[in-house]
Amino acid sequence: MKPTLVIVGRPNVGKSTLFNRLTRSRDALVADQPGLTRDRHYGHGRLGNKPYLVVDTGGFEPQAKEGIVKEMALQAEAAIAEADVLIFVVDVRTGLTSQDKVIADLLRRSGRPLLLAANKGEGMDRAVVSAEFYELGCGAPCVISSAHGEGVRELVELALAPFPDESEADEESAGPRVAIAGRPNVGKSTLINTLLGEDRVIAFDMPGTTRDAIEVPFERNGRAYTLIDTAGLRRKGRVFETIEKFSVIKTLQAVEEANVVVLMVDATQEISDQDAHIAGFIIDAGRALVVAVNKWDAVDDYRREQIKLDITRKLNFLGFARVHYVSALKGQGIAGILSSVDKAYAAAMAKMSTPKLTRVLIAAVEKQTPPRHGAFRPKLRYAHQGGSNPPIIVIHGNALEHIPASYTRYLERYFLEAFKLQGTPLRIQYKTTT
Ligand code: GDP
Ligand code: GDP
Repeated sequence: MKPTLVIVGRPNVGKSTLFNRLTRSRDALVADQPGLTRDRHYGHGRLGNKPYLVVDTGGFEPQAKEGIVKEMALQAEAAIAEADVLIFVVDVRTGLTSQDKVIADLLRRSGRPLLLAANKGEGMDRAVVSAEFYELGCGAPCVISSAHGEGVRELVELALAPFPDESEADEESAGPRVAIAGRPNVGKSTLINTLLGEDRVIAFDMPGTTRDAIEVPFERNGRAYTLIDTAGLRRKGRVFETIEKFSVIKTLQAVEEANVVVLMVDATQEISDQDAHIAGFIIDAGRALVVAVNKWDAVDDYRREQIKLDITRKLNFLGFARVHYVSALKGQGIAGILSSVDKAYAAAMAKMSTPKLTRVLIAAVEKQTPPRHGAFRPKLRYAHQGGSNPPIIVIHGNALEHIPASYTRYLERYFLEAFKLQGTPLRIQYKTTT
């Protein structure tokens, strides 16, 4: 499983600056997708072949007693409990504060692995900084500057050291790994019950630690699937508060682990920001996607037209995904979802040969040439496949850094269509030969 790094600290120490730096490399790939809704608190990063998730807990004030600040503190505590590594950020310019000490206590008590990041350390004497913050009892501080990028790489290396490299082992053997994602009460558990059958879920209703990935193999129509838990599974039959029932981090981890994500929305409700954030995260992760609009049994024709418009308007960046209108409760439309999961999985894993990719590339360029940029005319020469799930197409040529985002999107669409890939995003990377 991908490690989750959780950034904690009092307001203004530089948490969001650090978050941006830790998630930047991956952002560049998708930053110019039109309509993509980004959550400022959850992101992806990668160091070499070690991918990770990053969570910024925002303005964390552990002593808050009520209101929105209290709500944020609760969410931060949930994130802390699910962290693989905590990064505790302090500010060397203001020095050690009493609030830092309160947070340090709380973090130490969580028992999660903890790194202390002494931020805004550019031009500061490391020995002096270390001596001051050593007092927190969180080990020797890593002196960093998030704004200037100093020491950040070393911090991440340290955080990821205990975790193995990404392995592509037995990805293809056991059928698609499927996660069902969506906000609370859209009907995820109901769909899971319908897919697995009641007995199966009860059998898996056992306590586990937060990081025990629950994977449930199942078969439908002679095909094998593996369902990845998004937290709803173990809690069946019990009543939980919403905040406990729905765990953003577990959802994100399950999305990362999956090959195909079924994004479920509720036909009786408006599409909300939370729906769009989850969708944005799935796109960011490059996962194949099927959209299930649930509770179709509970809405009339007027509402059906409305929700269709709502989806086109607010989730337009999911254009590549099939949309199914279903009732998890009545078991209607489930076969359609699984058939789209199969297609999306096949598309995400498609193998495309260099000669064929190059032929398609040449045809795409003949149909529409990339625009000239000043004295430069980008020249696209050949293409090879650089990865799967999502398929990555690496294009070689000259002056490729001048290709505008709109042309890259044209190429993405062209490749998806030429290879008949339904249900997966596709990424283009450029390699300029000089
Ligand atoms: P957050 O409230 O903890 O998320 O803090 P922000 O990331 O919003 O940063 C608060 C302020 O500190 C901003 O004005 C940043 O520009 C500044 N800041 C962040 N990192 C650094 C750093 O490494 N050096 C300096 N000098 N300023 C920084
Ligand atoms: P989760 O939080 O996403 O796991 O949602 P649940 O599966 O717990 O469902 C939330 C509520 O919606 C429950 O009361 C379900 O009975 C109801 N529900 C789920 N699917 C459907 C459906 O297809 N139609 C209708 N009418 N209600 C549904």
